[in-house]
Amino acid sequence: MSLTFLITAGPTQEPLDPVRYLSNYSSGKMGYALARAALQRGHRVILITGPTALVPPKGARVIRVTTAGEMYRQVMRHYKKAHVIFKVAAVADYRPAKVSKQKIKKTKKNETLKLVRNPDILKALGRKVKKNQILVGFAAETKNGLVNAKKKLSEKKCDWIILNQVNQKGIGFNSDTNQVTLLSQKGQIWPLKRATKKRLAGQILTKILSTP
Ligand code: C5P
Repeated sequence: MSLTFLITAGPTQEPLDPVRYLSNYSSGKMGYALARAALQRGHRVILITGPTALVPPKGARVIRVTTAGEMYRQVMRHYKKAHVIFKVAAVADYRPAKVSKQKIKKTKKNETLKLVRNPDILKALGRKVKKNQILVGFAAETKNGLVNAKKKLSEKKCDWIILNQVNQKGIGFNSDTNQVTLLSQKGQIWPLKRATKKRLAGQILTKILSTP
């Protein structure tokens, strides 16, 4: 059966002034690999992507966004069409409280930056999705991975959390390889061997689509 996937990928950028922004090291590779794997299996993909240098896979409907606020609006516009939702994007949790219209000039003094919370898109989706939709979140952790991933699974009410440890060399952000553990709402814990993001994307799809 051909399914519709909604996949978010990449970082978000939160502007500070016309020449600066806050962001993170996400490359978008894991999300794009999942999009490619889903397309190769004959599914439809809506890819909502933050700024990345990657070429989107052919056949995906690509929606480009910059900020977490824009990603939130696009996800809310499209999620109802999706059978499976992968929230792979590394959404900025905070944005500058004020966006200056002009470039901020340096002075002799130190500066303090005031940040405000961005919406948690995954958490909002967890409350809205229907029982027949599969909601998958990602947890990029630098320590206490399993504990934090389990917490996210219950707080964000998703069907799966995919834990990825991002502080080890050669895996995680901006790397071509990754090591992930899948945790399900039903209590399954399924560690996958370190592999390319392409290979992992296939394994993740197989596991998630074959679990009743
Ligand atoms: O809480 P944390 O950012 O670690 O959770 C990661 C998961 O939550 C990812 O799936 C990410 O896409 C999602 N998320 C989100 N909106 C945010 C922060 C995270 O959708 N503001």
